[in-house]
Amino acid sequence: MIRIGKQDRVFVLTGAGVSAESGIPTFRGVGGLWRNYRIEEVASPQAWARDPALVWEFYSMRRRVAAGAKANPAHFALAELEQKLAERLFLCTQNVDNLHEQAGSRQVLHMHGELFKSRCDTCRRPPFADEAMYEPPASLPCCDCGGKIRPHICWFGEVPFELEEIFGALDRCTVFVAVGTSGVVEPAASFVAQVGGQGRTYYVGPELPANASAFDQCFQGEAGKTLPGLFVSD
Ligand code: NAD
Repeated sequence: MIRIGKQDRVFVLTGAGVSAESGIPTFRGVGGLWRNYRIEEVASPQAWARDPALVWEFYSMRRRVAAGAKANPAHFALAELEQKLAERLFLCTQNVDNLHEQAGSRQVLHMHGELFKSRCDTCRRPPFADEAMYEPPASLPCCDCGGKIRPHICWFGEVPFELEEIFGALDRCTVFVAVGTSGVVEPAASFVAQVGGQGRTYYVGPELPANASAFDQCFQGEAGKTLPGLFVSD
């Protein structure tokens, strides 16, 4: 049980594991996404420069999988927590799916981007909603400026979004909870260390993460079974 007092500010970091029970494969697990694709061939600026059609094939496949997925009890538990805590909850996800929003969460920071958004790789046009699949024989999307439209995703070698806002929230939080993240992808793996002495830190997932020793307590179990009922607020 994680007790939330009236003064507590809660930072929740979610990873691929929170969507595993919705049928979206994690990165590294059995059946993980990377078993059929090599990361550097589909999720890096170099891959985009070399073969944008292959990159879009991969993200079209991910859009198709995510479009059919339904939020699970873990997503609903976090949406319920937002109802209780309002702005005292900061929900930061590494996931690019929209299952937190589907469950009813309103404030979600997607630090690695969003699968159902695209942006221009050349001009400053803001990211826009885009659910299309760009697979052969469809042609690749182009911007009015002549640039190529790319997935709104933080690829390997790129800087995650909104880091300043995230580090500000880590500074202020008194409770930090990481859910379903292997603790190897930086900078998210170091968030728990940022909380320092002022906060209580917890991990939820079936296996201990690589950075398990940095947490005060680990709740070993699937997110969909563990999160509902885990939080008790005053
Ligand atoms: P990861 O694949 O490295 O680790 C997944 C973690 O989830 C593992 O520690 C595993 O033990 C745990 N897990 C598996 N089933 C679980 C369950 N039912 N409940 C709770 N935990 C469970 O994923 P990561 O650490 O999030 O890696 C980061 C990268 O993965 C990010 O860049 C993220 O964008 C990307 N990713 C996102 C999605 C998505 O949007 N749904 C899917 C795959 C990967």
